[in-house]
Amino acid sequence: MWQAEVRVDLDAIRENVDRLRAGTSAELMAVVKGDGYGHGMVPAARAALDAGADWLGVCTLDEALTLRAAGIDVPVLAWLLAPGLPLHTGVTAGVDLGVASLPQLDEMLAASRTAGRPARLHLKIDTGLARGGATVADWPALLDAAAKAQADGLVEVVGVWSHFVYADLPGHPTTDRQVAVFHEGLAMVERAGLRPRYRHLANSAATLTRPDTHFDLVRPGLAVYGLSPVAGETYGLRPAMTARARVMLTKRVPAGAGVSYGHTYTTEREANLAVVPLGYADGVPRHASNCGPVQLGGVRRTISGRVCMDQFVLDCGDDPVAAGDVATLFGSGSDGEPTADDWAEAVGTINYEIVTRFGSTRVPRVYDGDRT
Ligand SMILES: *Cc1c(COP(=O)(O)O)cnc(C)c1O
Repeated sequence: MWQAEVRVDLDAIRENVDRLRAGTSAELMAVVKGDGYGHGMVPAARAALDAGADWLGVCTLDEALTLRAAGIDVPVLAWLLAPGLPLHTGVTAGVDLGVASLPQLDEMLAASRTAGRPARLHLKIDTGLARGGATVADWPALLDAAAKAQADGLVEVVGVWSHFVYADLPGHPTTDRQVAVFHEGLAMVERAGLRPRYRHLANSAATLTRPDTHFDLVRPGLAVYGLSPVAGETYGLRPAMTARARVMLTKRVPAGAGVSYGHTYTTEREANLAVVPLGYADGVPRHASNCGPVQLGGVRRTISGRVCMDQFVLDCGDDPVAAGDVATLFGSGSDGEPTADDWAEAVGTINYEIVTRFGSTRVPRVYDGDRT
């Protein structure tokens, strides 16, 4: 018997990767950072690889090493590396590393010397996001230093890459500007005498909507899990995650009953309340208080009162509800249940955050579909 669970359909992940691959001739990096966007990094990675993903993308060195420790030996790129990490462990494990500055490059050289083999680097240019990546002004110096280090046999420049600003607005002019800056950056790469095997730029949105940005490798994350980066479009993807719980307790209360902390909800009439054992410690946003959609007894309801750390309450009116009934917070939507998109809209965030919140919590994750 389960009390609350996050179900992840690995077959949906496979289908989504299939679909993404069908739309490109580039290699595909399945991004599995953030515990596989909450779906479980290693199982999600295995499912994506099963369906033909060529690469895995993560942020942290630890994430990359966790993939290696699980026996996954495909190319892995890690790109969020603060100073002082034991980068040589990544070099030894054959993890590709993102580099955006001269100090970072220096750390890579030291790591190569310690590991006794050249670090595999992907040089990142900032084409407009102003987050990771070297500015266009700093790009030539980084390229020259990397070219020299490669000539000295200390590093191998495997890739050149950047990241988009507008995941959700495919037609935005900033995207075209970024593509143009990326092309300029690539011309400078040539002039520095570097010939990296991989040029990569496209996230899910660009993988789905901008074939001209695919270059040698695409880096979809969200779409692998069946969610769309663009509101109102599904691109035939199937959401892989379902979050649900069994009603713990029901009770009949009179009209005018204040519900949950702060009594921010009051029953209008006599009602059946259902207490659901999932809260913000499990990933339910507290902002879902009085607005989060939940399906119970085939009906879509709204969370009544505050979401607590461990539970929330549903006012079910006169509908018969019983302890043990299943309340579905979100799923693929195929049975009329809310989706992660519905939750994102209700609480004022994006679907990325909704599913990622359910990673690494106390709620057991259960996998459907073939587990490889
Ligand atoms: C997260 C991330 C991706 C994947 O983005 P999606 O919008 O989820 O497809 C790709 N590249 C980088 C650098 C990222 O940080």
